[in-house]
Amino acid sequence: MSQFTLEPHPNPVSPEARAALVEAPSFGTVFTDHMARINWSAGGAGWHSHRITPYGPLQLDPAAAVLHYAQEIFEGLKAYRWADGSIRTFRPAANAERFARSARRLALPELPPEDFIDALHALVEVDQAWVPSKPGTSLYLRPFMFAAEPFIGVRAAHEVFFLVIASPVGAYFKGGVAPVSIWVDQTYHRAGPGGTGAAKCGGNYAASLVSQEEAYSHGCEQVLFLDAATSTTLEELGGMNVAAVMADGSVVTPPTSGTILEGVTRSSLVQLIRDRGREVAERPIELAGLLEAIKMGQVVEVFACGTAAVVTPVGRLAGTDFDVTVADGAPGALTLSLYEELTGIQYGLREDKHGWTHRLL
Ligand SMILES: *Cc1c(COP(=O)(O)O)cnc(C)c1O
Repeated sequence: MSQFTLEPHPNPVSPEARAALVEAPSFGTVFTDHMARINWSAGGAGWHSHRITPYGPLQLDPAAAVLHYAQEIFEGLKAYRWADGSIRTFRPAANAERFARSARRLALPELPPEDFIDALHALVEVDQAWVPSKPGTSLYLRPFMFAAEPFIGVRAAHEVFFLVIASPVGAYFKGGVAPVSIWVDQTYHRAGPGGTGAAKCGGNYAASLVSQEEAYSHGCEQVLFLDAATSTTLEELGGMNVAAVMADGSVVTPPTSGTILEGVTRSSLVQLIRDRGREVAERPIELAGLLEAIKMGQVVEVFACGTAAVVTPVGRLAGTDFDVTVADGAPGALTLSLYEELTGIQYGLREDKHGWTHRLL
C-alpha cells in the first residue's frame, strides 16, 4: 500500500460478527471496516493525502457542490476469493480508464489509473477478511469521486474527494440466475445524444429511478430504455447492457455510440462469444423488430449484463402495448454458459486466456 497511510479502525467489527455478515451478504447494505481516500485540490496541489481510514460518515459542508449540481462519478468492480486463498479482481485497468473518461465528461479531475488501482490494493489488503468465499459471493468495490467544494456558484469544483468503499455481496437478483421481467420505458429516456449516457455518473441513475418505479408497478424487476431521438431502438437497462441471441447462434447488442455505458462485462462477453466462433453484431436493435423476431422464434434469448448481476436472462419484455415472453421464459443455453464461463474466469476455475484477472493479494 505504498503511498497510502493507514489509520486503523479503533473498533472494527468482531471476527464473529464479521463472519455472520460475510456469510449472508445482501447487495450493498454492509460495508467493511475501512475506506480509501484521496483528495484533489485545484491550483497545483493535485491529488494528495492518500489514506486508508475507518469507514464512517463524511464531514461535508451543506454547500458542497455535489449536493446541488450532481458533479459525481463512480465505478463498480469485485474482488473474488480463489480456492488457493488469493484475492483477485477483474480488468481493473478498464474501470480505471473508464473512470478517467467519466471524469472528463463531468469536468472532474482525472485520477491517474495507478492511484485508482493502488487504492483497491490498499483497501483490500487491510479488509481482506471481508472477502467472502462461498460460490457466487465477492467483495463489491465502489470507487467514486465528487465535488466537495462548498460553493453554490456553477462551475467545476476546486475541491474533489475520491473514495473507495467495499461491501460483501451475494447474488444481485434475489432469484439468482433466474430470468427477469423487463419494462420497456416508452416515456422517459436515461440519456440523449451529447448527454452523459456514456459516463458512469450518479445523475444518470437519478434520471432512471422514476422509470424503475414504473417497472415495479408493472411487475417487472428492471427497466429498458430506448434511444432519445426516435424512441425506437434499444439502448440499455438502468445499470446493465443488453443483448439478444438469434436462432442461428449469432448475437446482437446495441453499439456504444455515446448514449450507453461501455460495460466491461459487455465487452468481455463480446470477446468470449467471438472466441467461440460466433458472430457478434454491434448494431442498433429496433424494438418493433425485436418483439416480432421473438414471437417468430428468430430471437431465442435476451440477456442483460453488468458487474453486479454478471449475466441475467430476460424472460419477458413488457410495455404499454405489448407483453412478450422470450422463448419459453426459461434461461437460455448461451446465457447460462456465458455466466458459467465468465464467473469461472473470475473465480479462477477456468483458463484466463485474455489475462483479465488481476491479483490483489
Ligand atoms: C456500470 C454500468 C453498466 C455495466 O458496466 P460493467 O462495467 O459491466 O459493470 C451498464 N450500464 C450502466 C448504465 C452502468 O452504470
